[in-house]
Amino acid sequence: MGEKKYEAQRKALLASPKNGYDRVDEATRKAIFDYAEDYKRFLDAAKTEREAVTDAICRAEAAGFRAWERGMALQPGDKVYVNNRGKAIMLAVIGENDLSHGANICAAHIDNPRLDLKPNPLYEDGELAYFKTHYYGGIKKYQWPTIPLALHGVVALKDGTVISVCIGEDESDPVLVITDLLIHLSGDQMKKTLAEGITGEQLNVLLGSMPLPDDEEGDRVKFAVMLLLNERYGFTEEDFLSAELTMVPAQKARDVGLDRSMVGAFGHDDRVCAYAALEPVLRLEKPTRTAVCVLADKEEIGSVGVSGMQSQAFETFMDGLCQAQGVDLRVCFENSWCLSTDVSNAFDPTFAEVSDKRNNTQLNYGLGLCKYTGSRGKSGASDAAAELVARVRALFDANGVLWQMGELGRVDQGGGGTVAAYMANRNIDTIDAGVPVLSMHAPFEIIAKLDLYMAARANEAFYQV
Ligand code: MN
Ligand code: MN
Repeated sequence: MGEKKYEAQRKALLASPKNGYDRVDEATRKAIFDYAEDYKRFLDAAKTEREAVTDAICRAEAAGFRAWERGMALQPGDKVYVNNRGKAIMLAVIGENDLSHGANICAAHIDNPRLDLKPNPLYEDGELAYFKTHYYGGIKKYQWPTIPLALHGVVALKDGTVISVCIGEDESDPVLVITDLLIHLSGDQMKKTLAEGITGEQLNVLLGSMPLPDDEEGDRVKFAVMLLLNERYGFTEEDFLSAELTMVPAQKARDVGLDRSMVGAFGHDDRVCAYAALEPVLRLEKPTRTAVCVLADKEEIGSVGVSGMQSQAFETFMDGLCQAQGVDLRVCFENSWCLSTDVSNAFDPTFAEVSDKRNNTQLNYGLGLCKYTGSRGKSGASDAAAELVARVRALFDANGVLWQMGELGRVDQGGGGTVAAYMANRNIDTIDAGVPVLSMHAPFEIIAKLDLYMAARANEAFYQV
């Protein structure tokens, strides 16, 4: 008899969460697959933070958003955005309640690890032309040679003109590449650690091999390459000094797996969360509280600089909105809450030893919540309060969002952080919530379509609280 009595409780206690595909109906399964199609378009259009901002503005204006200017009058339902120097964007849909009630903020980042060109990148050696690069963010350097690369970015001229550069994406374009040593002569290289096998100064991008004809001067291959760039874009070698040019993988986003349940692409971290934060805010009409979507730059190097999440650009934007309603910014922050929506590490059975399986997110279990991130003894973490976690659990459960809870790997295995700490420093209740990723920070990262879909549903519910 006793066993029967407690059966329900025991079931609830012992029930391990189920794979998301066991918990969704046929219509949702179709919606999950459909949802990934436009995300793949976003991935291909936005390989850098600047391109992501351009794409976001295009989508926002089509959805009725206007560029915000200080002093503009605001009505509930108004949709505004601020373009922060072309590298970050903040969008808001004004709520029925004024900002003294706080805002619902989703913050993701749109920068990702890659190879930036050095200020003096172009050189010739062995009658081959190259770019010198300086890597940005945390990369495994050995992953970057022998894959097709594309050149993206801008060159700013002294007259104020900014030239957009993109080579290697169009089918008719050439691609660029970093070479690796042939295995036949790799006796010494193969004895090095993975960290040292390819060094930062070896990440040189091969640009050309054909010397300029009828020229007696040296560096004829380099000058031939520079002439090609000049013909196509109109800038000179000196203009590299005021450029932001970056090498990214040339391949496009693709379905992964025979079942097509996953997407492989460059830069899911964190454009998967950026997309899932942006897409629902564009469809909001008149939320109860003001909904804010922040797509920040520089997360991968510490959220620093004017376009990073630590920048006062966020205060300036929010204060402008608050002033339009006669609200104190500090009161607004105190009553706001934030989903720091950044990717988590998906459990990888091939490398199971780095994870505590009971406390790790995994593919197809939905949006991954992290109460805290950080390293060692939670150093550098923003630790979401238990009450906040409970609020978020309740919200997601009430809205049919599949979610899971995890932390970043085994204790003392490594660690990491997100923009969460910087939002929390502003007196905004903040929790990490993101999509699990396999091969994070690799040139080709993997996410599951179900998790993307659930992240977007989660953000949609959050904006409408
Ligand atoms: Mn990230
Ligand atoms: Mn990252």
